[in-house]
Amino acid sequence: MRTLRSASRETATKTSQFFDATNATNARRATRSSLARFAYNPSSIADADDSSSKAGLEDVTLGSDIEDAVTTKVSRKRKRTATSSQSSSSDPSRQAEGRRATTRTAPAMVKTEEDGEETQAQIETEPTSPDGSQNFEPASATKPRGRVRKPARKTVDPATGAVKVEPPTNWEEMYNLVKEMRISGPAANAAVDTMGCERLARADASPRDRRFQTLVALMLSSQTKDTVNAEAMARLHNELPPHKPGAPPGLNLENMLAVDPKLLNELIGKVGFHNLKTKYLKQTAEILRDKFGGDIPPTVETLCSLPGVGPKMAHLCMSATYGWNKVEGIGVDVHVHRITNLWGWNETKTPEDTRKALESWLPRDKWKEINWLLVGFGQTVCGPVKGSRRCGECELGLRGLCKSAERGKVNEGRKRREMEGKVKDEKEVRMEVDKKEEDVEVKEEVTEEVVKKNGAKGRTRSPRRIKTEGE
Ligand code: SF4
Repeated sequence: MRTLRSASRETATKTSQFFDATNATNARRATRSSLARFAYNPSSIADADDSSSKAGLEDVTLGSDIEDAVTTKVSRKRKRTATSSQSSSSDPSRQAEGRRATTRTAPAMVKTEEDGEETQAQIETEPTSPDGSQNFEPASATKPRGRVRKPARKTVDPATGAVKVEPPTNWEEMYNLVKEMRISGPAANAAVDTMGCERLARADASPRDRRFQTLVALMLSSQTKDTVNAEAMARLHNELPPHKPGAPPGLNLENMLAVDPKLLNELIGKVGFHNLKTKYLKQTAEILRDKFGGDIPPTVETLCSLPGVGPKMAHLCMSATYGWNKVEGIGVDVHVHRITNLWGWNETKTPEDTRKALESWLPRDKWKEINWLLVGFGQTVCGPVKGSRRCGECELGLRGLCKSAERGKVNEGRKRREMEGKVKDEKEVRMEVDKKEEDVEVKEEVTEEVVKKNGAKGRTRSPRRIKTEGE
């Protein structure tokens, strides 16, 4: 009997050794996440097919921005609840791992303006926790900690039945702090301030040409850094040949109609999707000539009828000083969409949804400014890639107003600020002491002079007895 048992044990050991040997190249544990890659997921397959070909770009229809051609991939996130992670293992280290897993955010691969042509960046799409804590414990998941921001929401007055939109909590305080940072803080001097589309039309051109130049700048700007866009616009201004002998060179409708598409493609060759943009620019020039009397259309709807122009570009073109200078809506680009969601002002999936959400409560006098405000803020402080954000210098993080702040950086920033405050206080005290000492010296000198002048008789008071401010 014993021999039989030992023989079967030996067989089991050998079998296990055999399987170990055959799996030597793939020693990873078969966790749920590693097996998840074999799961059937039709949407991801469709996405992969789309992105692997340029067909996606060709799908851009009239009335959508060029950047709408880029598909957004949202990876599948492993769901693990606090109870399952705790009950599945009695090992404390595995439980801790489970807790960490619940703090991870669902990464989304998106095209970013900063990254220009075809770089994809991982952005945070969900807050780490209600208060932005990185050490978020699942046990307290149901209990919001810290300051919880309510997004903009509709409320119905039970008495009258009137529907009212409540703005998000603390929005005005946050807005004003960001504005301060943009004007004289860490978010000042953003690329958009000097090279944004609004700044790329030539001041000495005619109003009609300036409008056309603004529209071209906007069409080139999608999926392109401001610096690269400004360079391409400079080439168009300087190198676009005249449409006939004696006519001025540069960026205007007539020269755009006459230019060879190959040359145009070369001039804008550094911007993202330049082939597609060359096609759209030539088509747009013809539409403007044939349907709009050589000028750009004067409404959001008609602007959206141009190829590659969507609501974002249309609203920005309408509100630009060198566009129509009329504010009809908010120009929501990736920065405005991303940052307002990051703050919890809205919970929206697309820039167009964000535009509608913001327009429902944001005062109209801020509709133009908010684009400048948040684009620059996104370029300098609150970038699209988590980890590169400057939460330790951001007033929203330092004052506990941002639920997505990176806690470690904020703590460091607060300590630094405390130290700076102490150094400042010490300096002020030092300066006050120095000033008092100087005053005493001056008074003593004056007294000595008086004594010298008046001689021994004039010594009515000893210099030592003169009272100073500090005494
Ligand atoms: S605290 Fe960080 S995440 Fe929040 S707005 Fe500031 S930079 Fe962005």
